[in-house]
Amino acid sequence: MSPNRPLARRDFLRLSAGSAAAALLAACTRSGAVTGGGAGPTGSTGPTLLSPTDPMVEMACGLPPRWIRRIARGYHPQRSAELQILPKAPNFVGDGLPHVGPWDYTSLVPMFWYGPGFIEPLGVVDRRATLADIAPTWARLLGIDLPTTEGRPLTEVLVPAERRTGAPRLIVTLVWDGAGRNVLDAWPGQWPNLRSLIPQGAWIEGAEVGSSPTSTAQIHATMGTGVFPRTHGVVGHSLRIDGRIVAPWKSGPGVMLLPSLADRYAEATGGRSAAGMIATVAIHLGMLGKGAAWRDNPKPLVVLREAPNAETLGAEGPAWNLPELLQQWYRFPDYANDLPALATYFAELDRRDGVADGLWRGNGLADEVLEGGFESPARIPYQTRLVEEVVAREGFGTHDATDLLYLNYKVIDMVGHIWSMNSPQMRDSVQMQDEYLPVLIDILDRYVGEGRWAMVLTSDHGSTPSPRVSGAFQISGSRLAQAINETFGREGAPVVEQVKQTEIFMDEERLAENGATLRDVAEFVLTLTQSELESPGVSVVTNPHAKVFEAAFPSAVIPSLPCADEGSEVGT
Ligand SMILES: [Zn+2]
Repeated sequence: MSPNRPLARRDFLRLSAGSAAAALLAACTRSGAVTGGGAGPTGSTGPTLLSPTDPMVEMACGLPPRWIRRIARGYHPQRSAELQILPKAPNFVGDGLPHVGPWDYTSLVPMFWYGPGFIEPLGVVDRRATLADIAPTWARLLGIDLPTTEGRPLTEVLVPAERRTGAPRLIVTLVWDGAGRNVLDAWPGQWPNLRSLIPQGAWIEGAEVGSSPTSTAQIHATMGTGVFPRTHGVVGHSLRIDGRIVAPWKSGPGVMLLPSLADRYAEATGGRSAAGMIATVAIHLGMLGKGAAWRDNPKPLVVLREAPNAETLGAEGPAWNLPELLQQWYRFPDYANDLPALATYFAELDRRDGVADGLWRGNGLADEVLEGGFESPARIPYQTRLVEEVVAREGFGTHDATDLLYLNYKVIDMVGHIWSMNSPQMRDSVQMQDEYLPVLIDILDRYVGEGRWAMVLTSDHGSTPSPRVSGAFQISGSRLAQAINETFGREGAPVVEQVKQTEIFMDEERLAENGATLRDVAEFVLTLTQSELESPGVSVVTNPHAKVFEAAFPSAVIPSLPCADEGSEVGT
């Protein structure tokens, strides 16, 4: 099975009881290759479907069906990684508290529709929805057709056309990045303004992202297009294009396989409407769309805060900007950095922890750890002031046709990564985010007009609890790669290309040269224990022999999974 360290049969006998173990025992005796792997096109015949009794199919379908449906919607056969790995919750792979996976805590998000005159005052609506429903719902309000959608318009939240007084002048899609339901549930007293608005709008109680993995880039593209990553093609923060692993948006909007609602609407209205996005990083662009890369559309306004030479896709820079490459498809308002400095808002935050001492929760607001204060809630009023300036100067809400504005506030996500969702920093962030919701509404009322606009407030994923709270074992991605390479690779010729939180990009060719298959690797991954995958100084080993993964299977199995069939239950 493995060229270097054959797996003993007893490794599999030690697996936990249940269908997964039975499946693995069977799998060990028949390591048939799975067709397709993601490295190349699957060909005109499509993937070969596996039998429902195939052990890998059985193992995957032994997971909760909603997890598998989410995974299937997030999987693109050419672009996604070759191997799926699913830690036993609450375990997770990687440092920095990633929020990536099919579990409810990463998936459940707020979705609040608001806009007197356009949105029905339904209060709490007990129904399911996914973020793919946002674009079709706005399309319905705008009166245009989206030719390809996987989401469905939430027609009940819209005031029927005959009761509307014309079209809205502005539609706002507002994302509190990382503020999933688990964050709001952890700080129930910190969002009184949003809560008080619920009776005046429609709060979708069963809203979820809809697909996995749940990282920022692909979920924003889902919001923008109304289709899942399997269709829009932005499958993650790493994706395989022409055999190479690349980051989304590094080469611009060509990464999106479909235009967005804003792209199609701009095409339909010519120059009669405006579109814009005020966010922070390029991976938010999926909610706006392709800009001038779609047909002859004018460049929409975009404000980011990308870090030059950033190491991660979430890294933000010292000033509002738009990377040069992106300027061929979007335009940057050159007045964005002329507004009051970020430090203007420090005093208000400083007092929040009870002492006006120049510190926020123990860190100097201008310190490097806070990126000069940008990684603090001070950026919320700072960004809101920019929104006001842009709305006023660009005349959002004053054009012939409805304008579209996309906003992403990212501090909740960032604080979740740095201090966790259970920290006092998160408490402050949720509270300030909520305090500035009425400020934003007031800006829209003043510049666009009361009763002249509509908004959806949502989030792109939850945040990961501190392992001290959840008891999670943090799995070292590098130890995982090392273990696989030592077992299946050769000196200087690794078989692992990149480990992600729920997937591994694998060099299948090299694996085959070494006489192994993705199934062999999947079986091996399931045997790995805490002591083998400990991240020194980070992971808390509670039981060195405890296995850390719940499932692992080649991604090419996904099209064969009967449990991934949507049936009539889209959105569940
Ligand atoms: Zn995010």
